[in-house]
Amino acid sequence: MINTQTALETQVPFYRPELTGNEIEEVIAALKSGWLTSGPRVRRFEREFADAVGASRALAVNSCTAALHLAVNALELEPGMGVLVPTMTFAATAAVVRYQGAVPILVDCDPVTFNMSLDDAARKLSRFRDDKSPGGAPKAPQAVGMIPVHVGGLMMDMEEVNRFASDHGLWVVEDAAHAFPAAWRRGPGDPWRRCGEGTAAITCFSFYANKTITTGEGGMAVTNNASLAERMKLMSLHGLSRDAWDRYSRGGSWDYRIIAPGFKYNMTDIAAAIGIHQLARAEEMRRERERIAADYWGAFSGVEEIELPVVANDRVHSWHLFPIRLQLARLTIDRNKFIEELAQSGVGSSVHWRPLHLHPYYQESFGWQPEDCPVATETWSRLVSLPLFPGMREEEIEHVIHTVKLLCARYAR
Ligand SMILES: *Cc1c(COP(=O)(O)O)cnc(C)c1O
Repeated sequence: MINTQTALETQVPFYRPELTGNEIEEVIAALKSGWLTSGPRVRRFEREFADAVGASRALAVNSCTAALHLAVNALELEPGMGVLVPTMTFAATAAVVRYQGAVPILVDCDPVTFNMSLDDAARKLSRFRDDKSPGGAPKAPQAVGMIPVHVGGLMMDMEEVNRFASDHGLWVVEDAAHAFPAAWRRGPGDPWRRCGEGTAAITCFSFYANKTITTGEGGMAVTNNASLAERMKLMSLHGLSRDAWDRYSRGGSWDYRIIAPGFKYNMTDIAAAIGIHQLARAEEMRRERERIAADYWGAFSGVEEIELPVVANDRVHSWHLFPIRLQLARLTIDRNKFIEELAQSGVGSSVHWRPLHLHPYYQESFGWQPEDCPVATETWSRLVSLPLFPGMREEEIEHVIHTVKLLCARYAR
């Protein structure tokens, strides 16, 4: 039996942001400076972030969703075109394709990493290619790009992804919402490549409250392509030919020109003030998450009722998530009940994710069925993400381990 007294005493949230650097002082300084919207702190954050990932250009925006939208917009995604999107992702990855009037082609996941399966991507491409109307014209959208996601911060092999893309004439935008800092190499002895270091045409990061570094809400698009960078910058602020900083700070003019119907996606200096100091501690916080993940691994390796996320020698894992998979055949309860029991013991958890092909919008508008992505359909019903964040106290880690083991023992078949 679970000791309810202990459970009530230790409440472990799924996530708690750690703002223990100079974030608060910097926000106050930003407020006192009188410059609240995009200004010197945004420029500094962009510069330092570009350096951190090894990209030549970075554009700070108010979310990763905005960054992804600007990316597909800059790549001239048009209505009726298709984009390969993993079904195992958050709403945003596919929504930005719809913003452009294009169609997400949902791709199943790898059963172990949960990242996009390139085998299934090839299957989906040929299925759509063969799907012809009576006149012989393709009925389905023709794919022009792909948006891989590094689920939980475990990078895909980007050489393989880029080879696949060039074989099929696709551009690549990385949804790296989980993957800062992260890196990959082909094998021992090969050089490490950071996520964003020329790994795709454009790489998009998230600084949402519970991501690996936060600005409250925020995102960053990085690229080595100057014209894509210019296009994204233009579209991020109303399509104006100069932004506020340029207009007012260089003793320049009050004038500007609207050259495209742009969006309003710029980051504020208040947010960048937080970001600058989160960035400075990003690797330290990653190491802390890695250590907690190692604790979980050590504690759970003999527990047969659950499967653990993979650890790989040729990845620097950001450890944004620690998703376990329940072995339902060995348990008398299902995933939802498991989550309820965790909550009753004061352990917060989440599920990443209900796959897109199992959501009403994608089923009703595009006819996706559970069997179209069988691995994701099967996997998601077993997924539980455990708490994993820097600043997690020893007794919190212990409580999560204790509770998961206790539930596995209590409900073992
Ligand atoms: C969080 C997340 C996003 C969206 O990030 P925002 O900054 O909240 O817009 C996109 N993709 C994935 C995979 C995410 O987890």
